[in-house]
Amino acid sequence: TRRKLVAGNWKMNGSRAGLAELDGIAAAAASAPGVDVAVAVPFTLIAPAATRVPALQIGAEDVHEADSGAHTGCVSAAMVAEAGARFAIVGHSERRADQGETSHDAWAKAAAARRQGLHVISCCGETEAERDADRAERVVQAQIEKSVPDNADGSWFTLAYEPRWAIGTGRTPTLEQIAAIHSIARAKLRMLIGDAADGVRILYGGSVTGDNAETILACENVDGALVGGASITAAKFVPIIEAAA
Ligand code: 13P
Repeated sequence: TRRKLVAGNWKMNGSRAGLAELDGIAAAAASAPGVDVAVAVPFTLIAPAATRVPALQIGAEDVHEADSGAHTGCVSAAMVAEAGARFAIVGHSERRADQGETSHDAWAKAAAARRQGLHVISCCGETEAERDADRAERVVQAQIEKSVPDNADGSWFTLAYEPRWAIGTGRTPTLEQIAAIHSIARAKLRMLIGDAADGVRILYGGSVTGDNAETILACENVDGALVGGASITAAKFVPIIEAAA
């Protein structure tokens, strides 16, 4: 059986002072030993966060696909690992939208993170137009096909389904829609990596809160949550950890 994973993604938020929120989050994680808790923070906060709360898994929100080289302004997987990151998010829809990243980029970034021993949370999800055109399932299947490495398994790889239109909007799919996508995602993983698919956690992300976490986490094939806005303060994130416990 798959352990639930509740992962925060601070995006371009937070500060050294804001790291105090991690104390309450770490305490809640310690009280929920059956749940894995992780928080991805901006690059500049990885080292102080990892030092402050060693028991919590701190991660990066992105890594470059190359191990090193002439890539001004970019940060490698080795760099975030040295700073104390234990995982990296790849393929987030905001990077797809803002930086033009593709599913192939997510694949290459996952491989780069893996080379440094990092756990990977790889994101997929349809736009609102794709959902309205009844193309959500096909879009997610294609993203998974292009982004999941052949050697993926649950020991280092997690998938996150985040419909773009649900991110930061307060809108979520119905439980039936979530269950449907997670089911086709599991089936697609099985086609790609066989039995290893059963060990890969599939997170739901998009406007998860303390109020809706329990019902979403109860959906079949939902193995945790990837949380943006509600992960930045302990007051909002702790109830989601408790809902997963
Ligand atoms: P919100 O929880 O703010 O909707 O963000 C979800 C997300 O993008 C997490 O990666």
